[in-house]
Amino acid sequence: MAQTYNPQLGREHSYPYEHREEERDYHWGMVINTNRCINCNTCSFACKSTWTSGEGEEYMWWMNVETEPYGGYPMGWDMRLLDDLEADQTIFDAADNGEKVHGYIAEKQAWEYPALGDDQVHGEYPEGEVVESDLENDEYHDIWQFYLPRLCNHCKNPACLAACPRKAIYKREEDGIVLLDQERCRGYRRCVKACPYHKPMYNPETGVTEKPVGCYPRIEEGNVPRCVSSCIGKTRLHGNINRGPDAGPAGGKSSAASGRSPINYLVHSDEKVALPLYPQFGTQPQVFYMPPYHVPPEFLTQMFTPNTEVKENEWPGDTYEESVRIVQERARNPSHEVLGILQLFGATTRLIETYNVKENRVKGWDRNGEKVVDVPIEEPMEVREGEQWTNQP
Ligand code: SF4
Ligand code: SF4
Repeated sequence: MAQTYNPQLGREHSYPYEHREEERDYHWGMVINTNRCINCNTCSFACKSTWTSGEGEEYMWWMNVETEPYGGYPMGWDMRLLDDLEADQTIFDAADNGEKVHGYIAEKQAWEYPALGDDQVHGEYPEGEVVESDLENDEYHDIWQFYLPRLCNHCKNPACLAACPRKAIYKREEDGIVLLDQERCRGYRRCVKACPYHKPMYNPETGVTEKPVGCYPRIEEGNVPRCVSSCIGKTRLHGNINRGPDAGPAGGKSSAASGRSPINYLVHSDEKVALPLYPQFGTQPQVFYMPPYHVPPEFLTQMFTPNTEVKENEWPGDTYEESVRIVQERARNPSHEVLGILQLFGATTRLIETYNVKENRVKGWDRNGEKVVDVPIEEPMEVREGEQWTNQP
């Protein structure tokens, strides 16, 4: 079987599809700051009303938000697959004879409760005082939960694509968005079984499968996907993940071709603050998460790192747990550069191709070099005179 180098794992593994050079100039990508998500599900409804409101699509939530550690749609999707994999084994390595990918088709009941586990916390209320997070002294809340928005990752090694015997799934040249050609699909559901994130879904009314489309018609017009533009919490930044963090000069550019991509900075620079979800599956997902800084790193390590004893990739730290601690701390106390990029989240519906942080302002340009955002990094604080504004006599 063909081998591919996976930078998220820092090693080669098998991939049953001719490896294609993925360092194209533009690649669809997204960063989600979990610390800002309030589980309002505006993103989920924006996606659903745009893409999956027809017959047979009732259960299809291409975008959904889960409460960790207990939520999951379909139910238990992550633990069920992780239980099957040995350490160091991707879903491609673990494929049974005659199969290309190890996976499973979730039963009907697993799709029946999209909100199961919503707002359920981990841990018991303590007898005494509630412990507040104190990362420096390695103390975390006794009880915790966090929200995990989930969508198709437009993976660089898509399992859905590798498994399709009809070659109905392809990664388009322009930006790596993974699409399914419904004319070619015969409803074999191999992709439904193979995708470890369970995002291709079978439509019993039409007899063919559907999968998320990365909002490509909006992207083609230079706009961000609906889940990004509608996000109440300004949790998301969408853009081009492939431009090197240091490509082009760091400041004062007017040309999109010469600048730095803000999401690439968050994911690929020395100041990495965003991690992929379950990279151990091996698909190289291209949605990255700024991890919650109030959650114990052991839990986050199994969720956002390859979770092996020996650390093989180039992320910061000597172990994966250390990587998580460093990234948590960076998310909690962002540098001026990262703080600037965080102001770009939700600041415009246009796709920001390049950015520039200068003193107290951050600016962003679209692919045509047109300025689409220009905002202060820290707003001045206004303190009103108390008496003047209260109802006190
Ligand atoms: S998340 Fe699943 S459906 Fe999306 S590209 Fe990856 S393997 Fe395919
Ligand atoms: S719209 Fe934003 S804040 Fe609301 S659930 Fe979705 S990601 Fe979270």
